[in-house]
Amino acid sequence: MKSAQEITIGSDALKQVVNTIFRAAGSNERECGLLADHLVEANLKGHDSHGVGMIPAYVTSLKAGELMLNTAPTVLRDTGGALVLDGGLGLGQSIAYDAMELGIQRTRETGSAIIALRNCHHIGRIGHWAEQCARQGFVSVHFVNVVSEPVVAPFGGKLPKLVTNPVAIGIPRAEVEPVIVDFATSKLAHGKIRVAYNKGVSVPDGTLIDSEGRPTNDPAAMFEPPTGAILPFGEHKGWALAFACEALAGALTGGLAMKGPVTQKAIVNNMFSIIISPEAMGTQASYLSELEDFVRWVQLPAKGEVPTVLLPGDPERTTKAKRLAKGIPVDANSWAHIIASGVSLGVLEAELSALIA
Ligand code: NAD
Repeated sequence: MKSAQEITIGSDALKQVVNTIFRAAGSNERECGLLADHLVEANLKGHDSHGVGMIPAYVTSLKAGELMLNTAPTVLRDTGGALVLDGGLGLGQSIAYDAMELGIQRTRETGSAIIALRNCHHIGRIGHWAEQCARQGFVSVHFVNVVSEPVVAPFGGKLPKLVTNPVAIGIPRAEVEPVIVDFATSKLAHGKIRVAYNKGVSVPDGTLIDSEGRPTNDPAAMFEPPTGAILPFGEHKGWALAFACEALAGALTGGLAMKGPVTQKAIVNNMFSIIISPEAMGTQASYLSELEDFVRWVQLPAKGEVPTVLLPGDPERTTKAKRLAKGIPVDANSWAHIIASGVSLGVLEAELSALIA
């Protein structure tokens, strides 16, 4: 395992780093802004796997012709209830944003929308899309499949056959931040294993198997040949949900499901989203009051004890508050890779270092 130290960078400075590198790559100002907001928000919320550490992978995709900058989603079909969109391998952080805006507009008009979005370059932290819908007061459900080098073994299997297929659900509340359910269907997101590898730390029991199918805690099992596989979370239950992602996001959107080795290096995502207006359903008042009653009930501790139950989205909020105050830790290996990506696009190392000084 490698070992590394950390540096701490403020969120505004980190956004400027993203902007500087992607302006040099050719992204327009709007796209750079959406990308910087998304990546740095992932870091702020503690999901470093989907933060600025992704920059080197995105630059590699760009150079391989597998990421198309400044692309808008194309509407392939509009049934009224459902929009089928093609992302044209555009930057996922702007394509998915535009797709959600179309879904939000349709939900305002008709009360609900299905967005079948195919063929996007990596769309990042899926909770970001649930948050975009929740800001409008809309409930949303998102199933995503990942078309990339297989890294996850199905329950009952030893070989990697699929990727980390995430699911997200956004649940707006009355006058407080929404509940955001957002996780990979693998025991750990692949990027978190990369972060552990770069930091030189072990991963928890039950996360990985080696190339022979034996349990291991060493993240090198995913990065140094012969490689092993990540296991689904919750045994058969995580696997079943991962299967649903392949069916809904991979097959039903008209995108690709996994069916063998993948030739492209880029991470391609397809997303199947359902967006619903509680107001249009006529349940807005009861939805909000039932939800608040449930939250009060579920968080009520045993007599004399302190509350211990968190809601989905709470850990991210706590981390964000800390990191806004104290800065975002970036491990030295990841920072070196980010600098190298910028330099490969003609940005001066001194310019990037100055941004975080
Ligand atoms: P995770 O295991 O950290 O789980 C996060 C979810 O669990 C959040 O909803 C969080 O609020 C909730 N949670 C955590 N602790 C809790 C507690 N004590 N009580 C209540 N709720 C709690 O997430 P992950 O599986 O590592 O995924 C990380 C990120 O990676 C996600 O944002 C996901 O969308 C993203 N991802 C993206 C892709 C892609 O291809 N684009 C693939 C996989 C994962």
